[in-house]
Amino acid sequence: MLNQYNYNEVLQQLGLENINLGASDGQQWLGHGKTVDVLTPIDGSRLASVKQANADDYEQIIAKAAAAFNTWRMVPAPQRGEIVRQLGEELRKNKEALGKLVTIEMGKSIQEGLGEVQEMIDICDYACGQSRMLYGVQTHSERARHRMFEQWHPLGIVGIISAFNFPVAVWSWNLCIALICGDVCVWKPASATPLTAIACQKIIEKVLKANGLPAGIACLITGKGSEIGERLNLDRRIPLISYTGSTKSGIHISKVVAERLGKTILELGGNNAIIVTKNADVTLAAKNILFGAVGTSGQRCTSTRRVIIAESVYAQFTELLLSYYKKITIGNPLSEGSLMGPLVDTQAVDTMMKALDAIRSQGGKIIYGGERLPEDKYPGGCYVIPAIAEVTNNLAIVQEETFAPILYLVKYKGDVESAIKIQNDVPQGLSSAIFTNNLIESEQFLSHAGSDCGIANVNAGTSGAEIGLAFGGEKETGGGRESGSDAWKVYMRRQTNTLNWSETTALAQGIKFD
Ligand code: NAD
Repeated sequence: MLNQYNYNEVLQQLGLENINLGASDGQQWLGHGKTVDVLTPIDGSRLASVKQANADDYEQIIAKAAAAFNTWRMVPAPQRGEIVRQLGEELRKNKEALGKLVTIEMGKSIQEGLGEVQEMIDICDYACGQSRMLYGVQTHSERARHRMFEQWHPLGIVGIISAFNFPVAVWSWNLCIALICGDVCVWKPASATPLTAIACQKIIEKVLKANGLPAGIACLITGKGSEIGERLNLDRRIPLISYTGSTKSGIHISKVVAERLGKTILELGGNNAIIVTKNADVTLAAKNILFGAVGTSGQRCTSTRRVIIAESVYAQFTELLLSYYKKITIGNPLSEGSLMGPLVDTQAVDTMMKALDAIRSQGGKIIYGGERLPEDKYPGGCYVIPAIAEVTNNLAIVQEETFAPILYLVKYKGDVESAIKIQNDVPQGLSSAIFTNNLIESEQFLSHAGSDCGIANVNAGTSGAEIGLAFGGEKETGGGRESGSDAWKVYMRRQTNTLNWSETTALAQGIKFD
């Protein structure tokens, strides 16, 4: 395991100290709330402390953001895109250190930590291009010498509330698109991952300062969800809350924000399935399922949680998958040799153990793994062996998202429609996939009567998405869309304009009022 010195080296590279202020308006750092220690799940040691924001810090920052909006919205969109492009350049310079810090703070493998920062760089490039494409439509008026068109205007302050499992990428997805749209942002990161957030804030501040921009354009507020997060939910100065996290908190947040008729983007829990039909390349399926279920220690919203397998290939598929599971290397996520690191904290391990008990008591059978690894060899107590269980889809525990590496195997009989029915028979609707080389099966899966998820893939797993198209899910996943395609529209307000260039009054629908 790594010693304290190596952690400190990474922290120092990103400007982090032993005790850090946890709130910033983009120029001034504040932190008059509680001081909390941040531990690494790698070995349970303390990395640094953070002084969270209190109510006064919050007020000061939101006032700065509100004032900055008046300036930022008048900067031409392509110039805003140029600022985001520069952020991408700074992230390129800091990719290795920031990727390592993601791994150190939340425990995903170093490959995935670096991949997360690459995703931030990609969205900077994408948003820069998008800044020249904030198109509105125009149409022909029914009135002579009238012109009709739509414009997209900035919304105001966007509150970004993010989850621990993608501690930096979710911020960038929202921030980069919101900034080019002319909005200003206030970010509340997950309580488990404030250090990566402070590091990102320092990086964007460097860019904003170098361009002589005022405070308030990109702000950070760390603190508890139920305290500082709740202030954002209730704040009428914040027209849009983009929330990523559990369905339980998402339901609460959506109600509080709707009460004041604010807008939300809700990116909530998933319960993602892969169908393996009798026409599948079973090896390809098993390899994809391995990454989907074990990558990020099963702590991705898109993690593969259920595999729905045709009876005729069940035995062959299961044997192959078990052989892969037996080869998984578990250990320090900073080591290139580890495929799986720790869970985020000991509470997450307890949740996994409770879920395994529930599987047993509800009639499922654990056929592999599920053990907590001993603390003498794996300090910190956050390491487990990923589990595989044979279940039926209707078990209460299978219907829930357990944010841990537990993979459910469900056997199906009959045609692909029976498999799709099982796949859709959960409350969540984020990501889904089918493995088949049969065109009719794959088209059925992608059809109106197919997968009901926001993401549906063929011969590619559920986990991991590219930034080019919209990301998000249906049903209890919340319906939000972020990142590429036309997701930018949520960060703007639409205005319909009619311009009369005649010298007379003409009413629509031919109404006379003389
Ligand atoms: P969580 O719900 O515990 O916390 C998420 C964020 O919400 C944190 O910043 C937390 O402090 C904040 N929060 C909690 N209560 C709040 C409140 N009342 N008001 C405002 N903010 C509040 O989730 P987590 O454990 O950090 O993350 C795991 C969950 O996130 C999983 O369910 C996962 O599926 C989901 N997730 C979804 C997506 C997606 O895009 N659909 C992506 C990543 C994670």
